[in-house]
Amino acid sequence: QAKAAGRNTLRFFDPAMQLAANERAQLEADLRLALARGELVVHLQPQMDEDTRLCGAEALVRWQHPERGLLGPAHFIPLAEQTGLIVPLGRQVLQAACRQLAHWAGHAAAQGLAISVNVSARQFRHPGFVQDVLQVAAQAGAPLHRLKLELTETLLLGDVEDTVARMRQLREHGVSFSLDDFGTGYSSLGYLKRLPLSEIKIDQGFVRDVLTDPNDAAIVHTILALARSLDLQVVAEGVETEGQLQFLQRHGCGGFQGWLFGRPCAIAPFEAAYLPGLGGPARQHTQQPEIA
Ligand code: C2E
Ligand code: MG
Ligand code: MG
Ligand code: MG
Repeated sequence: QAKAAGRNTLRFFDPAMQLAANERAQLEADLRLALARGELVVHLQPQMDEDTRLCGAEALVRWQHPERGLLGPAHFIPLAEQTGLIVPLGRQVLQAACRQLAHWAGHAAAQGLAISVNVSARQFRHPGFVQDVLQVAAQAGAPLHRLKLELTETLLLGDVEDTVARMRQLREHGVSFSLDDFGTGYSSLGYLKRLPLSEIKIDQGFVRDVLTDPNDAAIVHTILALARSLDLQVVAEGVETEGQLQFLQRHGCGGFQGWLFGRPCAIAPFEAAYLPGLGGPARQHTQQPEIA
């Protein structure tokens, strides 16, 4: 068998690695098709203000896979980043978010809501990124001052001058920026000050045990103090319990996102649950989709 497969090349090749490589190639081909067929869908998760009122939503991509069901981003975002498919994928997510913003702009009950879109470092660095965002938003008729882009600290590993220049160009058009998963990456405080951010998101890893782990409580406390002194908004991610919310509120956190308020769901059930005045389908208790 080894002979048939090619004597010198495959002898030392780990069959498990070969299998993984095949699966990866298949997944890449599938993902290309998925982009062309429109199988990627955007779900929305509510974001709350300091009074726990709805103030916006985060757009989170899912893949409605014809055989494997609804797949979460962990299954395909890393591959999309490696292959460059994150550029067209990210554009589709941005398109969906911008269409939603344009739709909400026409309704009094929804026109104040913002949408946050995750942007990968590779997508952000793509030469056409700034133009893409402006073009997609203009085509959709989206108010750019309601669009927030979530960046991660990996961007800080690249050319910071270039990062700041791109952010400034978009900010001139009203786009704002949030630093996602704050505390898990490489931020030096010096960089944090240089970036034209308006918000940081406390990673859910610090929120989870904030009531029981004094280290996490101290970190959350420090992040909130830092944000205050740099005049940044803060959103706590992964808020699941009333106790966590109370801790965060007591320490001056002004924004919340997590299962306590709602899991990510498709646009129609999101509007039915949070914006019943929009005249969509009647308010109903919707089953949250399970993602793999
Ligand atoms: P993220 O941007 O930090 O998004 C928050 C993640 O936490 C989401 O996972 C969300 O479903 C989950 N989450 C929210 N509230 C809770 C909670 O209370 N408890 C727990 N346990 N989890 C909660 P999801 O949707 O699986 O997304 C994972 C990551 O994939 C995102 O993390 C983001 O980094 C990436 N991602 C998602 N959509 C996109 C996209 O359109 N483009 C890019 N580049 N990345 C995306
Ligand atoms: Mg995010
Ligand atoms: Mg996050
Ligand atoms: Mg994350």
